[in-house]
Amino acid sequence: MNFDRIRSSIDVERMQNARVTVVGGAYGLTRDLVHCGLASVVYIDYDRIEPSNAARQDFDLTDVGRYKAEALAASLKRLNPDVQVTFLLRNFCELSQEDVDQYLGQSDLLIFATDSFAAQARGNIEALRLGKPALWIGLYQGARAGEIVYYSPGVTRACYRCICSGRYDAFERQARGEAAPPVNVPSTGGTILDLHLVDAIAGQIAVGLLTAGAPNRMGRLIGQLDQRNLLQVKIDPEYTLNGRDIFGQYLGNHPAQFSFGNIALPMEPEPDCPDCAAIRRAAQEAMPCEQSSNDTSHATPRADRSRSGSSA
Ligand SMILES: [Zn+2]
Repeated sequence: MNFDRIRSSIDVERMQNARVTVVGGAYGLTRDLVHCGLASVVYIDYDRIEPSNAARQDFDLTDVGRYKAEALAASLKRLNPDVQVTFLLRNFCELSQEDVDQYLGQSDLLIFATDSFAAQARGNIEALRLGKPALWIGLYQGARAGEIVYYSPGVTRACYRCICSGRYDAFERQARGEAAPPVNVPSTGGTILDLHLVDAIAGQIAVGLLTAGAPNRMGRLIGQLDQRNLLQVKIDPEYTLNGRDIFGQYLGNHPAQFSFGNIALPMEPEPDCPDCAAIRRAAQEAMPCEQSSNDTSHATPRADRSRSGSSA
């Protein structure tokens, strides 16, 4: 593949030496990362392609009945025969610790585009344990808005659980049999246009994480975002979160503000986060001179509880 015309924006060499593990969904995004030079992909998904998938995902009717992971692997090979693709027809939540260490432990970025809350939650634990950058992509109910959460070790302080703590609370309330907002919202209503809109922004961040520090605009992205590791994307012009116009709140209500834009919100960690508090404390103890940054004096926004992944 000839990357000459993207080298001024992307450190293609870094992309060619990088490996990304994708859990569910993100078919178009995974292809886009290969367009950007990514040369090694581990894909974990056990779904088969159904006729309804061709209307919403990057598959066609000739793929119906095949495993999504298998069809994606073939598609990536057509795009760039040099790409290394490993696909696991497995449920991510059922992988052994050895599997996780073998595949995720050898990766430079983990992408969770599944609509399974359990998989998202395990992804956070494993990303923190392995010290790997990670990205979670999802659509809110009816695909009226999208969400991207990312974690960059040593850069972002809030983990996925800190940012989506309301979703964890709802999951625990449901487990106790109490009424709670749904945590696994079906992505029905989400079109391929919605998926691609959110995936395109997630892809910028993925390349930013993989090439952080490179002397170009993609390499500068993660430093520029700093602690703004929750991005929400407006899709339905009339979207509100529990009656609150969260986009208008930050972007104003000028008539030029319509839709398809995003907000990138600075996030602070939850002091007692069960997933990351101990890791943060250990890192602080290792660097006693590092200035502690636990300013939670301002209200930190939280992600929409009703969401679903960009898969299925
Ligand atoms: Zn946390």
